[in-house]
Amino acid sequence: MKKQKRYYNGKRVFTLPIGANAFSFYAVFVGKKADNETNIRHEYGHTRQLEILGLFRYLRRVAFPSLTANLLARLHKLPFDYYSSKWEHEADVFGGVRRGVQVQPDARYDTFSGLIPLFFKRKKRK
Ligand SMILES: [Zn+2]
Repeated sequence: MKKQKRYYNGKRVFTLPIGANAFSFYAVFVGKKADNETNIRHEYGHTRQLEILGLFRYLRRVAFPSLTANLLARLHKLPFDYYSSKWEHEADVFGGVRRGVQVQPDARYDTFSGLIPLFFKRKKRK
């Protein structure tokens, strides 16, 4: 039997050997352990941001800060919930994902350059 192509709201969904990770770039890519509705909806939300912002603004406002925050979170240096950032929350809204009440991070962490100093902080603050 031929494998069916997967779509979510018109976007292709691909499964990759990336474990519990997921990302999007025009299409949605999920690892086996991240293959769930919440992640697919969220990544779909990022594809909408890309369409609305255009490639360069998307890279500047979403992709770079998101990658930076992701790395900081892995280093336990992100002082706020990853999904509470402006761009991640917006992806949730576009994808119809609800994560409950979240505190918005300080506005200085809204940009890529605002996140960089966090790499040089010693400890994760709560
Ligand atoms: Zn995201």
